[in-house]
Amino acid sequence: MKFLIVGSGFTGAVIARKLAESNHRVFVIDQRNHIAGNCFTQRDKETNIMEHVYGPHIFHTDDEEVWNYVNQHGEFKPFVNRVKSVVKGEVFSLPVNLHTINQFYDKSFSPKEAKEFIESIGDASIENPQNFEEQALKFIGVDLYEAFFKGYTVKQWGLDPKQLPASILKRLPVRFNYDDNYFSHKYQGIPEHGYTEIIHSILNHENIQVELNCAFNESMKSQFDHIVWSGKLDEWFNYSEGKLSYRTLKFEKYYDYGDFQGNAVINYGDEDIPYTRITEHKHFMPWEEHKRTIYFKEYSSECRDADIPYYPVRLANDKTILNKYLSKANNEENVTFAGRLGTYSYMDMDVTIREAINIAEKLVSRFI
Ligand code: UDP
Repeated sequence: MKFLIVGSGFTGAVIARKLAESNHRVFVIDQRNHIAGNCFTQRDKETNIMEHVYGPHIFHTDDEEVWNYVNQHGEFKPFVNRVKSVVKGEVFSLPVNLHTINQFYDKSFSPKEAKEFIESIGDASIENPQNFEEQALKFIGVDLYEAFFKGYTVKQWGLDPKQLPASILKRLPVRFNYDDNYFSHKYQGIPEHGYTEIIHSILNHENIQVELNCAFNESMKSQFDHIVWSGKLDEWFNYSEGKLSYRTLKFEKYYDYGDFQGNAVINYGDEDIPYTRITEHKHFMPWEEHKRTIYFKEYSSECRDADIPYYPVRLANDKTILNKYLSKANNEENVTFAGRLGTYSYMDMDVTIREAINIAEKLVSRFI
């Protein structure tokens, strides 16, 4: 069988590989001039620092099969993301943990005391949090919410947190100990030579042909037995049911000497600071030494037509539109929709790979 895969990020690459290993012929196209989608990394020409061109990506997962999969395609070095947040000029530890609570309230609570205290300031009248704000008010109370989450979330999503689902906040834990590991997953790391190399290795198979700078066009439909689409779901249908909303990111790049901020990621909780965070990329690879440094101020905004989509917004209106596209997608015999954009879902890299493996296995058994 002859497959066309549109998009060469993790989704496209993982599916392509599985199909290729089952003796299918696979063509992967990408409209950009590089593989790896938004995971693309390359060395900055002036400093030789590995740059996460579309924002920082830290690999974290509990899924052993996914962890083994990526490790087969490149070496990962241990990396623990210890994020700081600046609020009104003071630096705190994230995710909210015992240090954050003690510093914020100028206390020296034990874990038990902190837990009781936070429970006492949480809004007990909220039984079933219906949105991001209610989730926060119930579990951490108004002060911590306003300091660390409200402003950041308004900047990140361009919305009142009352309009956002509680699930977004559930991505972040609250801890009553001094563990400041941003993620709670068993396996965490950064590829020693960047993500592009990993995806290059996944795509490196005799049955896979990759074409860059190549946008999909309708005439391709008749040339392949099946298409895997990892582009925007609404784009496939020419926006016939309306546009799904996404957020895009813009990065302002700066060069300096030495160490600019002493950490890979520093978030800015205040709403009047226009960027959400500053990331200093050499700190993602502490095993390398660099005299110079590069850092990026990250700005989030509504994704317009010419912008690169990053986050699906998934408001009520989007969900109505999404359902229409999903039923249309069900009727597309020869197309499989996959990935963050193809399914309009907020997935981390590990979940993306897990879904791609599952989709590929289904395709392999369908097209024996
Ligand atoms: N968030 C916040 N303050 C922070 C970090 C995160 O309010 O300092 C909120 C924000 O709404 C964000 C969500 O928590 O979209 C999830 O954060 P995460 O770091 O998982 O986002 P990602 O890395 O996917 O951008």
